[in-house]
Amino acid sequence: MALTATVHHVDLTRGTVETKTVPEDVYRKYPGGSALAAYLLLQTMPAGADPLGPDNVLVMAVSPLTGLAISGQSRMTACARSPLTGAVGDSQCGGFFPAEMRTAGADAFVFTGQAAEPVYLWLQDGRAELRPARHLWGKVTADVDRLLKQECDPKAEIAQIGPAGENRVRFAAIMNMVNRANGRTGMGAVMGTKRLKAVVVRGSKPPKPANPEKFRELTKRLKELQEANPGIGWFGEFGTAGVLAIQDKMGGLPTRNYDEGTFEDAKAIDGSTLAKTILKERDTCYACVVKCKRVVEVHEPGLDVDPIYGGPEYETLALFGSMCGVGDLKLLARASADANKYGMDTISCGGTIAWAMEAKARGLLDDQGLGLAFGDGQSLLRAIEAIALRRGVGDLLAEGSLRAAERLGPAAVDLTVTAKGQELPAHMPQHKRSLGLIYAVNAFGADHQSSEHDSQLKAKPGSLQRRRLAELGDFPDLDPRDLSDAKVAFAYRTQCFYSALDSLGLCQFVWGPSWQLYGPAETVELVRYGTGWDATMDEVLAMGERRLHLLRGFNAREGLGKNVDTLPKKLFRPLGGKGPTAGVALTTEEFERARAKYYELAGCDPATGYPTRAKLGALGLAWLAEQVPAPPR
Ligand code: SF4
Repeated sequence: MALTATVHHVDLTRGTVETKTVPEDVYRKYPGGSALAAYLLLQTMPAGADPLGPDNVLVMAVSPLTGLAISGQSRMTACARSPLTGAVGDSQCGGFFPAEMRTAGADAFVFTGQAAEPVYLWLQDGRAELRPARHLWGKVTADVDRLLKQECDPKAEIAQIGPAGENRVRFAAIMNMVNRANGRTGMGAVMGTKRLKAVVVRGSKPPKPANPEKFRELTKRLKELQEANPGIGWFGEFGTAGVLAIQDKMGGLPTRNYDEGTFEDAKAIDGSTLAKTILKERDTCYACVVKCKRVVEVHEPGLDVDPIYGGPEYETLALFGSMCGVGDLKLLARASADANKYGMDTISCGGTIAWAMEAKARGLLDDQGLGLAFGDGQSLLRAIEAIALRRGVGDLLAEGSLRAAERLGPAAVDLTVTAKGQELPAHMPQHKRSLGLIYAVNAFGADHQSSEHDSQLKAKPGSLQRRRLAELGDFPDLDPRDLSDAKVAFAYRTQCFYSALDSLGLCQFVWGPSWQLYGPAETVELVRYGTGWDATMDEVLAMGERRLHLLRGFNAREGLGKNVDTLPKKLFRPLGGKGPTAGVALTTEEFERARAKYYELAGCDPATGYPTRAKLGALGLAWLAEQVPAPPR
């Protein structure tokens, strides 16, 4: 039987839902997740649409592997023009919503227009309807989750926006399970603009693999893979938060608005301390054995944390913690819970507040009584609330650090740490050089989950990591601070693989090219047994490369290419502090040389950074080439 995709087109202006089918030949080219979402976005959104206007289009997509009974397949991509960057927006979430969405009969939703009054979408076993949501508007995420379960089905899964999305905070998230986020690029603000409060899904027919016997064989290999990879057990025990002390030791933990690479209170906020103190239990995503998610509980005056809001990840601890100079773990747990309650990306929110703390200290920002200061945790909590509700100076900070700084002048812009206007994650390019390059060239702004980290190349010869990486290419042993042509080749190749994972809707802590539970060869097997397609490694890498160029093609339509493939000035100034990266800086020359090499490998024009017509044609994207401006002669 043909494997097709069911897409529900929801016109919010007219209040209608139309269901269409993507045929198998098209689906195999854009196999779900980010690739299908970008394809549908490019087919539907007119070039030049205002990200916060009715012409923007929001797509949510899962993949033909979503909902299968194997770890790390429950991921949903949200895609639209980003209100934060003006470029393409793209963000993945985990949890149980993605698996339930497919079980309920949706491979994608395409939301167009703008509702006159707040609404939510209710999809149950293939039947979709829009319902009024006025009674939910203004409510925080836990309350909305509870009310919608009462209204629709106690076992329904809910993707929703909190007050931050309603208030069009440019880095508002889409939340599901109240503690999982499509965090990056402001997809929650697009939902808020459309007055779409939530998407609620419930189904009774879980998807089945195309080849059940082979699929079962793959799942049976789990025990053997776990035994061969003790790092996975460690990762489950401490979660992403477990890497914080390691990052600090390497001098790669951004501290006080990216001015230093080590933090004096790193141990106090590391995942191992969290596991010994405030951890209530571990949580998971649909069918995943790794259980890397944290649930924390705190009972202290002013710092109560309701376990429903989960627990902080590494990025959250670093952006609210070391970046803001705050070393109080309980307070950071509260900050994480507040961001989930209001529905905001903790990376951009923390990065914006850290920038504001520095701008205030330098006399560039009037914080209107918020009392912002590095190390002052209470001022961090006040800022989170002010941003979500756009109160006082929060209204300015809700625009993101770059837009806010541009209103204050060039000295304030010099303090920002963004790529394409999106705040950098907590993996420092000063230490991981190729990651910095990917931050710059990535179509949707700085992202740490878009290529393999430089540090994996330092794994011992013959190790699991090296054997897995060898399945993708012959990569030499290179220092994390190396940015030679060989390192750029490593970055691009692994970016294509990671891009395929985002297209196939796979969790990159479970499926990946090095330390993860399943490696590249098993990924190809999963595609074959899950879909029935006779896929090869080359086809999987081509899926990833095609998706990268769909995203770059979107940007080119908006005139965004090399002009925005840049890194912030701060990274080119020597780091302060005392750690192993003190005094380290990127150089303009090495960055520009690496970017030129990247364009050569990726098939992008060296003058504009746009994908060339020849490259788009080779990837089966001739239709997109028509829309991309021709490079200057
Ligand atoms: S590894 Fe963690 S984030 Fe990934 S699917 Fe499993 S529980 Fe979810």
